[in-house]
Amino acid sequence: MAYNFRHRSQRVRYEETRDGESDSNSSDLEYSTLIETPRGNGRGRGRGRGRRINRQREREHSLKRRQDNVTRWANRGGRSHRIARRNIVLDSEESNERNNNLEMETAPSSINQEPLPTTTSGISSSQKARRTKKTILSWLTDCRKVEDGDLVNYLTERSGPVTGRINNGAIMCNCCDKEVSVWNFERHNKSDRKQPYKHIQVYRDPELCSLQESLIGAWQKDEEQKRRAMFTYVPKNINVEEPVCLICGNGGEGEYICCHNCPSVYHTSCVNMEGVPYKNWLCHYCICKYCGVGGVSQHLSTCCQCNKKFHWACLQLQDRNCPSLYCGPSCKEIYEKLEGLLGIQNDIDERYSWRVVHKVDTIPGVVPVDENLRMEINAKVAVTWMLMNEVFETIIDQQTGINVVQSVVYSCGSNLRRVNFSRFYTFVIEKDDEMIGAASIRFHGKEIVEMPFIATDEAYRGKGICRLLMGIIESFMCDLKVKNLIIPSNVETTEMWKVKYNFDVVNNKVLKKNISSYNMLMFPRAIRLYKDFFNRKLVDMNAEPDQEI
Ligand SMILES: [Zn+2]
Ligand SMILES: [Zn+2]
Ligand SMILES: [Zn+2]
Ligand SMILES: [Zn+2]
Ligand SMILES: [Zn+2]
Repeated sequence: MAYNFRHRSQRVRYEETRDGESDSNSSDLEYSTLIETPRGNGRGRGRGRGRRINRQREREHSLKRRQDNVTRWANRGGRSHRIARRNIVLDSEESNERNNNLEMETAPSSINQEPLPTTTSGISSSQKARRTKKTILSWLTDCRKVEDGDLVNYLTERSGPVTGRINNGAIMCNCCDKEVSVWNFERHNKSDRKQPYKHIQVYRDPELCSLQESLIGAWQKDEEQKRRAMFTYVPKNINVEEPVCLICGNGGEGEYICCHNCPSVYHTSCVNMEGVPYKNWLCHYCICKYCGVGGVSQHLSTCCQCNKKFHWACLQLQDRNCPSLYCGPSCKEIYEKLEGLLGIQNDIDERYSWRVVHKVDTIPGVVPVDENLRMEINAKVAVTWMLMNEVFETIIDQQTGINVVQSVVYSCGSNLRRVNFSRFYTFVIEKDDEMIGAASIRFHGKEIVEMPFIATDEAYRGKGICRLLMGIIESFMCDLKVKNLIIPSNVETTEMWKVKYNFDVVNNKVLKKNISSYNMLMFPRAIRLYKDFFNRKLVDMNAEPDQEI
């Protein structure tokens, strides 16, 4: 796996340690990064050249050691394992500073949940101690709205309400002396209101406030607002900026074509063109999807589901009854199904449940969402980010500097089509209120759906969670009669996707051409795989979990 680090104003030192080096069963590499932030002019000047050289050597040495480690490990284990965990230690508390200061090009990560050879041996006891449950309470703790040890009670008319204390993303309940979820804490208070966030109160001297109020406060925090901010792209001088192709995700050498109407750039070869045409060329998102005509003089509507444009008259020819919000009945059905399911918990069995999450803004959508549910869904988005951020390497888009995984999780929009992630939804699996698996999904109509990221919490790997999640997603798609699911896979995981999940490499011309008319997340060196639901066997959710899933 190749890394290409570039640093601007800051010194960056990379180190790697291996957890459980002596444990022959361990396949988990721990990778820690230390970023030093500048401490002001005076101290900055104090750093001599000699020291800088030493640091340079140290860095080279450490990078080399790291590569050696990876290679050695690959040889020993018989297969290459991705570095599955990363700790970034920052001098500054402002953790999102790293987005601005560290550019990192990483291999694609359609799946970053390298299976551990056994279910537990890969996790050392110290790692277990550090692991936090991915719950809304953990997020509130991260946002410093609550703290471990805070006293909580449940607002009830009954006498003698049960109290508890916040502990590790859960509540240590005084009635049973166990760590319970907010939902169980509500039950232990003999209430069936099913509104724990509204009725659980946290006492933080001298204040008493409901979890609901804490949720609102946390969501309005600066950091959260930054995470969900829309990215406004301002085109730079073409000589300064390297273009990145929307279809293949690559920059560098090649013949590019720029849309006359929007800032999107494409390789001519990626849009099946021979040479650059003389007339003003419009991309697939700037023309009517039915008649192919576009340009500023045209009155085109934009589909709220797939973002493709269309003439109202052209839509009328297709379907007289379709509302003009959608480009056709398929997008209407997909949108209504997703939005109708938003935030609703669906039980799988007595242990697990799944739900669809997507950031919900205050502006009412087509399907209105209750305010309590809205806050809970948004909090789940933040929890999804906790999980994804722990599992995936940080991927910074080279052209725009945005954090890709984070922007996908928060469904951030942009005027630059390639990094407009507003239509991403996340399918999550939960155990009680703990998020243990998540997958990012974007529908481009019924022909093509993409899933660039799927992750399982480290503590639940090897327990069939990924297969369960895939099973949920597949049956959801089959209900909608979706044909193809497309994923960008890295080289190491391609075989696993082919063998375990019946994916194939995209190499047929028709599908390739079809893909070239959609905005799909792609990474340099990734391999595009697809699963044809009409012709390939679906995942068996009831199969016994094995070591490789
Ligand atoms: Zn209890
Ligand atoms: Zn391209
Ligand atoms: Zn365009
Ligand atoms: Zn048209
Ligand atoms: Zn559409």
